[in-house]
Amino acid sequence: VDDAVTEALLTSLRELFGTRARAGEPLNRHTSFRIGGPADVWVEVDSVAEVQQVLSAAHRAGAPLFVLGGGTNLLVSDRGVRGIVMKLGRRFAQIEWHPNGAGTHVYAGAAAPFKKLVTEAVHRALAGLEFAEGIPGSLGGGLLMNAGAFGGEIAQVIEAIEGVDAERGPQRLPREVLRFGYRHFDLPRGFVVTHLALRLLPGDAEAVRTRKLEYKRRREMHQPLGYPNAGSIFKNPPGQYAGRLIEAAGFKGRRVGGAMVSEQHANFIVNAGGATAADVRTLMAEIVAGVQQQHHVVLEPEVRLVGDWGPAA
Ligand SMILES: Cc1cc2nc3c(=O)[nH]c(=O)nc-3n(C[C@H](O)[C@H](O)[C@H](O)COP(=O)(O)OP(=O)(O)OC[C@H]3O[C@@H](n4cnc5c(N)ncnc54)[C@H](O)[C@@H]3O)c2cc1C
Repeated sequence: VDDAVTEALLTSLRELFGTRARAGEPLNRHTSFRIGGPADVWVEVDSVAEVQQVLSAAHRAGAPLFVLGGGTNLLVSDRGVRGIVMKLGRRFAQIEWHPNGAGTHVYAGAAAPFKKLVTEAVHRALAGLEFAEGIPGSLGGGLLMNAGAFGGEIAQVIEAIEGVDAERGPQRLPREVLRFGYRHFDLPRGFVVTHLALRLLPGDAEAVRTRKLEYKRRREMHQPLGYPNAGSIFKNPPGQYAGRLIEAAGFKGRRVGGAMVSEQHANFIVNAGGATAADVRTLMAEIVAGVQQQHHVVLEPEVRLVGDWGPAA
């Protein structure tokens, strides 16, 4: 995407979105890692029609589009992201609860915080989401990552999703056509998720609350608090734990620049101060090489590498 295209794109989005469309928004403000260069064009949208407008503008300009959720599973390059970075605004953060027969249907915007959903579900004595206690980010991001913990994952409660397809416009996709895997969801190319429909079942209020508290305790025991991070860096290889392999390979506390392998949990890299995306990426490469050499296992990143990594990368 060259400068003229970016300029034209910005002008057309400014007309539609005013100050909600901006040039050069620093993405370190929007990632839990506190790392990331600028977005060429940043836009915040508040309706399905606006999502469509942005998709059309991107298509007309031939510019790439990246949808940012809570930014809690991302490593954004120091050079930033070319084209458009779109964020769903507050109108997409609502959660509706509709009791229905034995269960409750939940209809939520993709920008709603996962934590809010879990807290309210537990408050309503609805079971099925206790595992997600403590998973940060948005529901849209949770869906895309099929976020999970302690044996549970978001796929278990999804009934349907709604969103805008770049070619076909607004769509509702029922559960039957959705394909989930481990920290993976097959989203049709160019599809922006705007809403999720979930189904939760009533549970015993006390049991639901106790499970949630137990997961909270276990999470606090094992996860690094204090430093910015993006959760688990690598996926667990089948039948193994990435954290144990990394620890056994001697990486706890290893530093590259401002990036450091957490002392509490070896599958977390923390930004110990002023870390660049390049620091994290170099540390990740060292870990992959070290674990491969020692354990003959090739770790795959769970964190998503986003943006422009330059010709040398
Ligand atoms: C302290 C900490 C603990 C964590 N613990 C866990 C855990 O226990 N389990 C776990 O699974 N994860 C965990 N994570 C990782 C992360 O929180 C999850 O993957 C989360 O679900 C990501 O959501 P997000 O909104 O931040 O997505 P982002 O990181 O913003 O985006 C993730 C992907 O989803 C896409 N996306 C987001 N929204 C949309 C949308 N509306 N439409 C289309 N695409 C979209 C993005 O383009 C990107 O590719 C943890 C992270 C941290 C920082």
